[in-house]
Amino acid sequence: MNSTEVYVLFGPPGVGKGTQGELIEKKFNCSRISTGDIFRENIRNQTELGIEAKSYIDKGELVPDSVTLGMVENAIVEVAKNNSIIILDGFPRNVNQAEVLDDICEKYHYVLKCVIALNADDNVIIQRLSDRLTCKKCGTTFHKIYNKPSKEGVCDKCGGELYQRSDDTPHAIANRLDTYRSTTEPVLNYYQHSGKLAEIDASASPEDISKTVFKLFSS
Ligand code: AMP
Repeated sequence: MNSTEVYVLFGPPGVGKGTQGELIEKKFNCSRISTGDIFRENIRNQTELGIEAKSYIDKGELVPDSVTLGMVENAIVEVAKNNSIIILDGFPRNVNQAEVLDDICEKYHYVLKCVIALNADDNVIIQRLSDRLTCKKCGTTFHKIYNKPSKEGVCDKCGGELYQRSDDTPHAIANRLDTYRSTTEPVLNYYQHSGKLAEIDASASPEDISKTVFKLFSS
């Protein structure tokens, strides 16, 4: 059997990692692990992990590695049982997490194929996040102006209720961007000489971005 291949979707909050991840999942029949989604599910179910993570997420800070790393390793191992391609959305988010991802790949004989780094200016990101609506049930995102749901407040995909995430508020958005620039962006240096880094301008429309992203998967 071939080794499981791991792709990383990297970039600031609101740059479109989730949207691109969903499009890739559909087109290439692979499985996406979103650390943000796992945390939100734990918060909904009021698990111990969810309660601990919530205080950090609401402030726009990263959840500590002591909570995140074990959770991610378990999720990757579980998904790898039935999938030969895994997309990581939102992990790694600091250099230590990038190192641990290398360790996980070595330990389980997975291959880190590509780090797809999306980027856009802060003003584009702030606009996308401030008017973003998220489905409570399936996590699909909409935008109040550019990607309205057919029926106000209702998810087109599953009929779930749309809400504004507690970390999509101006104060939390500012913190998330600060955290990204100070702690997450340096991960790009970590991959700079690996030959695995593909940097993509993500200020275009999701459809245009996906054309470039899909090429990376097809090649
Ligand atoms: P996201 O849905 O990817 O925007 O993530 C929402 C929030 O979950 C982030 O702002 C962090 O507080 C937390 N989070 C997600 N992924 C990680 C990670 N890899 N490490 C630490 N915190 C994370």
